Amino acid sequence: MKYIVVSGGVISGIGKGVIASSTGLLFKTLGLRVTAIKIDPYMNIDAGTMAPTEHGEVFVLNDGGEADLDLGNYERYLDVTLMRDNNITTGKIYREVIDKERRGDYLGKTVQIVPHLTDAIQNWIERVAAIPVDESGDTPDVCIIELGGTVGDIESAPFVEALRQFQFRVGHENFALVHVSLVPVIGGEQKTKPTQAAVRDLRSLGLVPDIIATRCINPLERAVIQKLSMFCHVGPEQVLGVHDVSSTYHVPLLLEQQGMVRFFERRLNLNLDQRSPESRLRGQTLRQRWLDLISSQERLFETVEIVLVGKYTSLQDSYISVIKALEHASMRCRRRLVLKWVDSGDLEPKAETESPVKYHRAWESLCSAKGIIVPGGFGHRGTEGMINAARWAREQKVPFLGICLGFQVAVIEYARNVCGFSQAGSAELEPETPQPVVVYMPEISKTHLGGTMRLGLRPSIFTEDSEEWSKIRRLYGGKSAVWERHRHRYEINPEMAPKLEGGRDGLYFIGKNDRGNRMQIAELKNHPYFVGMQAHPELASRPLNPSPPFLGLVAAAAGQLDEQMENQLREYKPPHPESAMVYESPDVDAPEVTEE
Ligand code: GLN
Repeated sequence: MKYIVVSGGVISGIGKGVIASSTGLLFKTLGLRVTAIKIDPYMNIDAGTMAPTEHGEVFVLNDGGEADLDLGNYERYLDVTLMRDNNITTGKIYREVIDKERRGDYLGKTVQIVPHLTDAIQNWIERVAAIPVDESGDTPDVCIIELGGTVGDIESAPFVEALRQFQFRVGHENFALVHVSLVPVIGGEQKTKPTQAAVRDLRSLGLVPDIIATRCINPLERAVIQKLSMFCHVGPEQVLGVHDVSSTYHVPLLLEQQGMVRFFERRLNLNLDQRSPESRLRGQTLRQRWLDLISSQERLFETVEIVLVGKYTSLQDSYISVIKALEHASMRCRRRLVLKWVDSGDLEPKAETESPVKYHRAWESLCSAKGIIVPGGFGHRGTEGMINAARWAREQKVPFLGICLGFQVAVIEYARNVCGFSQAGSAELEPETPQPVVVYMPEISKTHLGGTMRLGLRPSIFTEDSEEWSKIRRLYGGKSAVWERHRHRYEINPEMAPKLEGGRDGLYFIGKNDRGNRMQIAELKNHPYFVGMQAHPELASRPLNPSPPFLGLVAAAAGQLDEQMENQLREYKPPHPESAMVYESPDVDAPEVTEE
């Protein structure tokens, strides 16, 4: 196993995740199997309890792990399926050591950061790196380890020390380090001092950079590379520039062009000549598909405009998988995505008096939308605005996709304005609502927040009659069941659901869980495209295998829905062929109790 650590210096948030994923992709183009681990040096057990505006979206894995959004990057770039243990946090590793201590496993010893915690980190990495991540079931050859934060932070110290020891545990030719740094441009001059300081910090902790990947707005000048090489004590071929590019899909190529593959080949003794012809071919095919993807993306001149109505619009990372899924779908439709952001709060009546300019702008965007998406979220703020957006889409026949909370609000809107339940609401949003269309799921804890939602991969089984008319079912290739990842506490009230369904242009719950009592997919009949999903299909979208509900929205907005539905009947590939293994027992889902 070859371990590649990707660490960061100077500041965070400069694209370390993309560089880590791109490095992994380059190894894949050699035909090697690649896995990834993200280390997050915060005390939380996982990202599940953090607001999206804090650290960006919470990425949900097949096994229900609530992880950092970088795991989404790895899954998309490397086309792998990861598990909760691929994300290590300070909270998780301390919990493991403390549990062991309580069991008496340390046999009376004083338990310390070094060696007990640092050993636990190294054992964890070795164990998780060996877990297969694709259908082949083969043990990976390469493990990318991304260390969150910046080296030198007090938080990451135990991890840095563990990695320092790890290089000796696994041996020099099995361990390499990519340090991501920043070269700011000031007065037109590329400045190397922050990188020099960052590398000095790294070395003082016993880690040696093999590659210094520097983020800069423009390509590194030759003299700057020389200077960095000299002051950071590395060869010039070890200094790579990652300048701003039109799309992050270019980054693997940028690294490749500067010799990253050649460097690692020597440094890690990769013995590429000994590869099987099959893995060689697999790598070449992947590389070609990636090149095709980039060149097709560059030839997109026509646009498709989608309006995203959400409550976390202040931080784009809150919706990163949603944006990626829209991009993948747009690429399939040969259009360039133009995404407009609307803060759902600005669509509410009170905004008209409080901030009239925002209110009118938001409504202008909504009214001119060719497609509207309302993604997931938690809590009351902004939900009335989402309900207004869903109403607009329904009445004006604008293509609409509601995800999780977006699905729930669309059903509430329908209950209020079509079915006459004028006080319809959600127990989450108005606990005392007299007409609860959305209710708390009985098995969910009311006292603990972390890891207690209905999480992970679950099936939705299409109703029989949906085969005749449902667009979303055709987009899923006509399959009778689909598997997507869930993350929610509330659900459509199973007792209310039958009262909402029906009619020539009505709403139908056409996808349900295996017991048939959880409404998971809804669609309006005779609407250009109006779909709601309780799951988060964006999490399974891949550049070359766009998520069907997203494809439907974008295709409908671009006037290509029929063509794309036709295409999907032939082309759709479920992204979770291993799902039946991960989803152990249908009994864990939907207990029969309806009241607590
Ligand atoms: N807040 C809603 C629930 O818990 C929706 C969750 C979401 O959008 N992820 O059911």
